Amino acid sequence: MNEEQRLNKTPDGSEVKTEEKDYSQYFNRVYQPPSLKDAKRRGKEEVEYHDDFQIDERFREMGNGRKFHIQTYGCQMNEHDTEVMAGIFMALGYTFTPDRTKADVILLNTCAIRENAEDKVFGELGHLKSLKRERPDLLIGVCGCMSQEESVVNEILSRQPHVDMIFGTHNIHRLPNILHEAYMSKEMVVEVWSKEGDIIENLPKQRLGHIKAWVNIMYGCDKFCTYCIVPYTRGKERSRRPEDIIQEVRELAAQGYKEITLLGQNVNAYGKDLEDLDYTLGDLMDDLRKIDIPRIRFTTSHPRDFDDRLIEVLAKGGNLVDHIHLPVQSGSSAILKMMSRKYTREQFLELVAKIKKAIPNVTLTTDIIVGFPNETDEQFEETMTLFEEVGFDTAYTYIYSPREGTPAAKMQDNVSMEVKKERLQRLNKLVNETSAKAMAQYEGQTVKVLVEGESKKDPEVLSGYTEKNKLVNFRAPKEVIGEIVEVKVTDAKTWSLDGEYIGLVKQKETV
Ligand code: SF4
Repeated sequence: MNEEQRLNKTPDGSEVKTEEKDYSQYFNRVYQPPSLKDAKRRGKEEVEYHDDFQIDERFREMGNGRKFHIQTYGCQMNEHDTEVMAGIFMALGYTFTPDRTKADVILLNTCAIRENAEDKVFGELGHLKSLKRERPDLLIGVCGCMSQEESVVNEILSRQPHVDMIFGTHNIHRLPNILHEAYMSKEMVVEVWSKEGDIIENLPKQRLGHIKAWVNIMYGCDKFCTYCIVPYTRGKERSRRPEDIIQEVRELAAQGYKEITLLGQNVNAYGKDLEDLDYTLGDLMDDLRKIDIPRIRFTTSHPRDFDDRLIEVLAKGGNLVDHIHLPVQSGSSAILKMMSRKYTREQFLELVAKIKKAIPNVTLTTDIIVGFPNETDEQFEETMTLFEEVGFDTAYTYIYSPREGTPAAKMQDNVSMEVKKERLQRLNKLVNETSAKAMAQYEGQTVKVLVEGESKKDPEVLSGYTEKNKLVNFRAPKEVIGEIVEVKVTDAKTWSLDGEYIGLVKQKETV
């Protein structure tokens, strides 16, 4: 179908009226530009709770004979949003294609956390231009966190005319309507709500695997760390009802999933907004650990909200894994203050001591930003010493990158990029050495591995992860994919372990 035909036919085949349309009026209706200022408002809007999502009868046949492709950037939250959008596409009759040259709709589900993530998306949009030229009926959409940013939307509106749709993180449930508008119109459809966010319970999901599953427990973030764009792109903190989460995990257990990861931008804030309930992440974990599913994790936690109740419940062990990812970001109290992290170095160390006392075998990993504006040599050294003092197994490390619209982006910076890079190199050296040491301790030990599939490098080798999230490669029959097995570690590398397959772990032993 060409551009002209697209205008005259709806996706379900019915004719569209062909009289002259006043598109300026039309786009006054569908164009809702994002606003970081509006997105910062908190507490003025009630969170709406919906459990009545339905595909409108008009759209049911929309995808018949059509294929979709979604390219996902960024965090697990985005991967899970992709599962929801895939579910909606399939409910509309579309089928998935891994080959985007065969797709009728391509979505880029974007990440705004770092500048290079945005650069990748703009690069990708450049590549898609020629595909659109060859096939004008192809629909191209941009969604996810980048589409919540005014500057990105303006850039796409003015310089990427081959994009058909831009929609935000609060508009995913509107995908059928947005596709419908895009098929009918010749202008870009932009629908990005700068609102605090709702909870929509019964959206369809097409999960990407059968072994591990993501479960959202809350949305948004109210922490407003000065470098972070997430509170603006994902709305205010809002928790799902415990009964809905418990039901979802029960269903996943019944379907044979072996591991779930509870997701939220700041999972430890779970429950704070539930006005009629006194119920926290600790309470939720305590209820979930009784479900017969071998492994339960959560990400990402904020040290400020990591309370005693959660530590007490995690200490019960069982299917609650003893690996905690606890982003510290900096070891200097002065930098933490400028980042508005709301804890000091001392408070972080106290928290770590409490966790270690309650869970002696715990493995801690973290995120660290180096080169925050005006970070001194001494302040950077404090990060190096904190990393060692805590005894983190490993860390994800980054050079600070300013995000337009955040308070940190307005800070004057007197640290050169050369110095920032040197600091990152020094930190990475320490992290690599520490990781190698932590891995070496596994040599000769037997570990339990959830087998995910063939190794990326060698299809004859299988790979999977331990409870502590260590990657293990070993040879075994393919039938054990999806099972928890015992492997004896023979060789430790910096980032992975090699081992010999021993056998299946009996179901009862896994919990
Ligand atoms: S807690 Fe995490 S998501 Fe929230 S503002 Fe801070 S860094 Fe961003």
